[in-house]
Amino acid sequence: MPVVSHDMLIKVACAIGGEDAAKIIEVLSQNDEMTEDEIVSKTGIKLNDARKMLYKLYEHSIVGLRRVRSKDTGWFTFYWRIQLDQVEGFIIGQKKRILEKLEKRLEYENSHSFYYCYTPGCKRLSFEEATEYLFRCPKCNKPLSYYDNSKIIESIRKKIEKIKSELNE
Ligand SMILES: [Zn+2]
Repeated sequence: MPVVSHDMLIKVACAIGGEDAAKIIEVLSQNDEMTEDEIVSKTGIKLNDARKMLYKLYEHSIVGLRRVRSKDTGWFTFYWRIQLDQVEGFIIGQKKRILEKLEKRLEYENSHSFYYCYTPGCKRLSFEEATEYLFRCPKCNKPLSYYDNSKIIESIRKKIEKIKSELNE
């Protein structure tokens, strides 16, 4: 895996917590460590929302924290930072999940024949489903004919190959 790019980092944040998470990661990426107050003043996100989002990112190990207790007040200050190595792990995990889904999909495409009415907006049916509907489309009632899914299979195979090569980098 190459070093995580800034774009990828923001994408990961977005996938976890949407726009607020992306804003927080953006400002955190410009600093080694930040307190919650600093994050709030840089992002304009309300303290409670920022805190919730930081913990959400923390649950995925994307950010880490360091607590420092004030000798005067006894209160804790939290210093947050990005954990880039964990972001890599998150991305690898996501890719593995996608790969698994694609492999299941490929198996499904390979082990079924499909039938289609060739009307835009209608869905193709598996042989089993087509039999159930006596080879008439349940939506538009046109006859169903064999649908060649070799292009779909090819495109899934390509996606699988791409992810596998990315995982092996
Ligand atoms: Zn149809």
